[in-house]
Amino acid sequence: MIKVCKFGGTSMADGTNMQRVAEIIGSDPDRRYVVVSAPGKRFGGDTKITDLLYETARDVKTTGKTGEAFEKVRQRFLGIVSELKLDFDMANILDDTRKEIERENSEDFAASRGEYLSARVMAQLLGVEFVDARDVVKFDAEGALDGEKTFALVKSALKGKRSAVVAGFYGEDVCGKVKTFSRGGSDITGAIVARAVMADLYENWTDVSGCLACDPRIVNGPVGIRSMSYKELRELSYMGFNVLHSESVFPVKDGNIPICIKNTFRPEDDGTMIVPVSKYRYTGNAVTGIAGKKDFTVIFIEKSLMNSEIAFARKVLSVLEEHHISFEHMPSGIDTMSFVIDSEELRHGVLEEITEGIKSAVHPDAMRVFDDIALIAVVGHGMSRNVGTSARLFNAIAKAGINVRMIDQGSSELNIIVGVDNDNCDRAIAAIYEEFFGKK
Ligand code: ASP
Repeated sequence: MIKVCKFGGTSMADGTNMQRVAEIIGSDPDRRYVVVSAPGKRFGGDTKITDLLYETARDVKTTGKTGEAFEKVRQRFLGIVSELKLDFDMANILDDTRKEIERENSEDFAASRGEYLSARVMAQLLGVEFVDARDVVKFDAEGALDGEKTFALVKSALKGKRSAVVAGFYGEDVCGKVKTFSRGGSDITGAIVARAVMADLYENWTDVSGCLACDPRIVNGPVGIRSMSYKELRELSYMGFNVLHSESVFPVKDGNIPICIKNTFRPEDDGTMIVPVSKYRYTGNAVTGIAGKKDFTVIFIEKSLMNSEIAFARKVLSVLEEHHISFEHMPSGIDTMSFVIDSEELRHGVLEEITEGIKSAVHPDAMRVFDDIALIAVVGHGMSRNVGTSARLFNAIAKAGINVRMIDQGSSELNIIVGVDNDNCDRAIAAIYEEFFGKK
């Protein structure tokens, strides 16, 4: 059995935590390949190594030299190595790293060094080989992960190695330059390694005992989700569940490899299992989780006989395409169509250009724009088995006195998306949670 384990920033924050990680790995011989993040925050108000490295990149851009931020990085790593009593010339590695950061003068390169250094320390602590992600994780000319190439390289790098530590978060582009994933991207590296070796399990170790049915800042002590499908996770993480990077599902999904989210600080807790739909077991709940995201804009278009006008949608979509705007949802009726777009994309006059463009492309009878809209995703395979789920959902929102601005239900019966005013978002989530989980 092969388990690939990814440890997040809090698990790597200092020597004590790294020691804890080493114990977790040592307690199960199946935990063979390890992917690590850069050291994260040790306490509230602390700064993540990655953030210090972004600051370092800015220093190098403006002065040509690393500055105070890199000195903090240096002290953190020297502290970790001395805390772990490792016989390891960290000072030398840090000197080389500083020179390379100055020479490369690249934000991605600087940011990647947190994972590079923490993987080197972890490999030393475990007494196993270090694998530089730069040699095995490859991006294509468009900047997307080159999956085929990457899986083959990871596989051959790990072939014959009983265990190894791989640095998370970065890889190399077609020009041979280091490139990072988006923030939190070590989760993706973990998934890549799991897929490459066709692991039996991808364990993602973090500082919470798995996923909760909704944001604990909104509801006090929400229930934990013991098991969910990749699809449910995808829907929820897209809408703001941030336990796992939303893109990390793809590599493991292709290999049907389950993910288990575990807590480094409470390893005995069950955590959350994320499994292929084929292995998903119905738990009896209509809803698995609820997530919300604020700050969307809805562009609503109305035109009589829109349904019979050939290419109506294409003309509207071309306007969005010309402005490089992607939309999140497109709820539509017989004579109406609306687009839900992240408000951030519509700033600096883009919204006005788009509405003008749509007017001249399709001459709608009416067009309205609503902003400050929050989307709430209520997700669960169980919905398709439970008659009346949407009635309960909308009843709960109505009872809380909240006006629903938009509804979108995917044809898969996996989720219902409800649009409400930003200000009502948290209250609506709390009301929905109470309806589906509170009465047990
Ligand atoms: N260290 C990176 C970040 O802070 C990547 C990661 O931790 O996954 O975003």
